[in-house]
Amino acid sequence: TATRTQGFGPSAFSETTRLALEHGAVNLGQGFPDEPPPAFVLEAARRAAESGPQQYAPAPGLPALRQALSVWMAPQLGYAADPELEVTVASGATEAAYAAVLALVEPGDEVIVLEPSYDMYAPQIELAGGQVRYVPLEAQGGRWVLDIERLRAAVGPRTRGLVLNTPHNPTGKVFSPQELESIAAVVQDCDLWVLADEVYDRLTYAVPHRSIAALPGMRERTVTLGSAGKTFAVTGWRIGWAVAPHSVTTALRGVRQWTSFAAPSPLQAAVAECMTHPQASAFLEEQRRSYARRRDLLVAALRGAGLDPLMPEGGYFVMAAASKLGADDAEIAARLIRDPGVAAMHGSMFYAPDSRAGLKPTLRFAFCKRDETLEAAAQRLRQLG
Ligand code: GLN
Repeated sequence: TATRTQGFGPSAFSETTRLALEHGAVNLGQGFPDEPPPAFVLEAARRAAESGPQQYAPAPGLPALRQALSVWMAPQLGYAADPELEVTVASGATEAAYAAVLALVEPGDEVIVLEPSYDMYAPQIELAGGQVRYVPLEAQGGRWVLDIERLRAAVGPRTRGLVLNTPHNPTGKVFSPQELESIAAVVQDCDLWVLADEVYDRLTYAVPHRSIAALPGMRERTVTLGSAGKTFAVTGWRIGWAVAPHSVTTALRGVRQWTSFAAPSPLQAAVAECMTHPQASAFLEEQRRSYARRRDLLVAALRGAGLDPLMPEGGYFVMAAASKLGADDAEIAARLIRDPGVAAMHGSMFYAPDSRAGLKPTLRFAFCKRDETLEAAAQRLRQLG
């Protein structure tokens, strides 16, 4: 088999879910809701199954969904993206990201990724023949901080792009307007593009989400990714999107037609209905409120277990320092799945192997779970306290 596939075992998320099932552990590892989506979302899927499109959608996405996305994204982008020229639907934000990376990265190009980071970006960049340069986010005084001078210093002659994930997985950091402005200044000074992964945009608890594409001069340089799975609590639907300038959209559509050709048409119709549904905004507000409450519940449980969680501002994960349980977080996570039976992701998986030396052990817990699930986890974690 091709050398480019070397080191691609099952992802740590898939492995953790498998082990959690095997050991009957409460699964706070892989981030997905464990309760049914709201009735209006299921109703939209039912209607699409009965009377929606059942054959190929146009490869760039159903027109009704691209139109809905233009309206949906306009408040955060500060402009209504052209559904014909700037909006593309994909089979999950993962596919949208891959198409964007293949559309933007030349072999030998460098792309900056902030670390810790979601595990998807580096393999995608490397599959395109690019190289990742990591710039650390550092936990300081209860916040994750980006040293902007380190970002600037990381830009070399081959650096072409930056991945910016906000709200951020795994830390829960939401980049502030000031941070986005200073990042945008570096991006413009150094003539970079930005892959803005904003799949948790509707899940913020303290400060509102801002899109970097909304800043002056950034629309032409930014691909903004979003996800129906995160927005409507249906991660299995695999409907995501990319909003990008016309030239980049043309290139990424060109690539994306060769991966899945088109995303599932009935589910695209269902997402379009969800986005235009009168209950959508009330649902999102309620989801935000209930996730904020669950975040607090989990953070309290982790503190009760003697761990040291850092309060997330967005997304549905919390990172907690776990030094009291050992030195190697992969070993700690493997142990906790068996006893007391709670699955979490080990923090070091969100770092490149070369960045792991000297890391303090951390665990990432998901709180996009039913109260019963979180309470069961809390009860088991108390045995550690
Ligand atoms: N985004 C999910 C998480 O961070 C994982 C999705 C996946 O397993 N591909 O937990």
